Amino acid sequence: MSNRPALPPEIARRRTFAIISHPDAGKTTLTEKFLLFGGAIQMAGQVRAKGEARRTRSDFMKLEQDRGISVSASAMSFEYRDFRYNLVDTPGHSDFSEDTYRTLTAVDAAIMVIDGAKGVESQTRKLFEVCRLRDLPILTFCNKMDRESRDTFEIIDEIQENLAIDVAPASWPIGMGREFLGCYDMLHDRLELMDRADRNKVAESIKISGLDDPKLAEHVPADMLEKLREEVEMARELLPAFDRQSFLEGHLTPIWFGSAINSFGVKELMDGIGEFGPEPEVFKTAERDVAPEEKKVSGFVFKVQANMDPKHRDRVAFVRLVSGHFTRGQKLFHVRSKKPMAVSNPVLFLAADRELAEEAWGGDIIGIPNHGQLRIGDALTEGESLRFTGIPSFAPELLQSVRATDPMKGKHLEKALMQFAEEGAAKVFKPAIGSGFIVGVVGALQFDVLASRIELEYGIPVRFETSQFTSARWVQGDKAAVEKLLNANKQHISYDHDGDVVFLTRLQWDIDRVERDYEGVTLSATKEMM
Ligand code: GDP
Repeated sequence: MSNRPALPPEIARRRTFAIISHPDAGKTTLTEKFLLFGGAIQMAGQVRAKGEARRTRSDFMKLEQDRGISVSASAMSFEYRDFRYNLVDTPGHSDFSEDTYRTLTAVDAAIMVIDGAKGVESQTRKLFEVCRLRDLPILTFCNKMDRESRDTFEIIDEIQENLAIDVAPASWPIGMGREFLGCYDMLHDRLELMDRADRNKVAESIKISGLDDPKLAEHVPADMLEKLREEVEMARELLPAFDRQSFLEGHLTPIWFGSAINSFGVKELMDGIGEFGPEPEVFKTAERDVAPEEKKVSGFVFKVQANMDPKHRDRVAFVRLVSGHFTRGQKLFHVRSKKPMAVSNPVLFLAADRELAEEAWGGDIIGIPNHGQLRIGDALTEGESLRFTGIPSFAPELLQSVRATDPMKGKHLEKALMQFAEEGAAKVFKPAIGSGFIVGVVGALQFDVLASRIELEYGIPVRFETSQFTSARWVQGDKAAVEKLLNANKQHISYDHDGDVVFLTRLQWDIDRVERDYEGVTLSATKEMM
């Protein structure tokens, strides 16, 4: 099955993926069913992602009590059949955020969930485009087939047209809404029948020898059967057949139809990821490509989560292991600080027993509790200086200045802001002249979230105010030219949390002016993190 024979079996059986969807399409429900089938939870209904329920979910991880940290289930691992699945959570809020983008740099594939009645929605499209930047293989799950949905061909057409990707049906729905019976598995010639009586039960699977098998008539009423035969015949004629290579290159997505809430189609989808992969991928660094089968351990931090508990200041760095076989206690080389780091208490988010990680392999996600040494983009290796590329930091689209309501708390505010900046929750700029800070975000809602987190976690009431600036650009270029720019434009200059120089302005004209007048200087809307 694997077309990469060099992979050790433990790595070849890893599947590391994220779910992308528009809010309400059914991501949480699907996640819940994955965990249910992965034996991680006894009953669905324990994983709820919203509001109050977020807390339930982090309780589910039990890490708060065990280790004094909260991770709100940013990554979960579970076993199903021959495979180890690592599911990385993409943040649920509807504002596109860097966090989401970076999550997608840590996975090898994505499941795109769409609502059968709504088709491709705005957020689906945005996230899809991000996946496309990396040519991530995408598996599609068309959910809520137990409700009135669109015509199957129409759904497939819409995906093909809207997202410019070939769609190969892996299953074909039989009926819809109240009439929805189940699916015809087009890849294995099986009939999958949904059990309406028990939502947590896996569908009944009946082996069929093609669409002319008389057994079909025992399960599907005559009129629906006729329609099914017609449609499948047409689909085989008009739509591309599944092609693994094309899928792995991100040009074709297999689509399954189902109903997450009824546990229907979920098992087939999981089998699909298992069967078609991809296995852990090769990652690029500035120096060379790193293959998962390399003996030495390497990985990078793609997310840092600060403690939700104000009494502790620990964070967890989420590391995507890219290569090798990691064992607990192993000393790794922290490339940015050039210092060794003993990783004595890594957390593996094994949903079933949520224990300390004794070992992990290329493809896995581990959490490393730390006091701030580990930042987004940092590489860990066994000594080699590698810099993983493609983990960008975007220029924020919205800027506001922030002040503590109590001026005595300025210093504390600085600390809080720096921590959020490290977490990647916001950009924080310290102007070269004057006091105070400018905070940049991608979506307006993030200001509210930040204000309440600063108050809740640090006890500092703050006020966000309109800033005189609207754009931020990282200044790059040779030292002398940058120096010249700095001296002549002090009122525009600020420093981000890494101390890098950032040019702030409200006029595109200013940006053009700098690029014209200062040879050797470029103003960039992204910064590669390391
Ligand atoms: P998320 O916002 O993408 O995480 O979506 P949720 O999983 O929270 O689901 C949104 C709503 O759709 C909830 O009320 C679910 O119960 C419901 N839902 C999820 N899957 C299905 C399904 O297969 N059929 C039906 N009818 N409702 C579903």
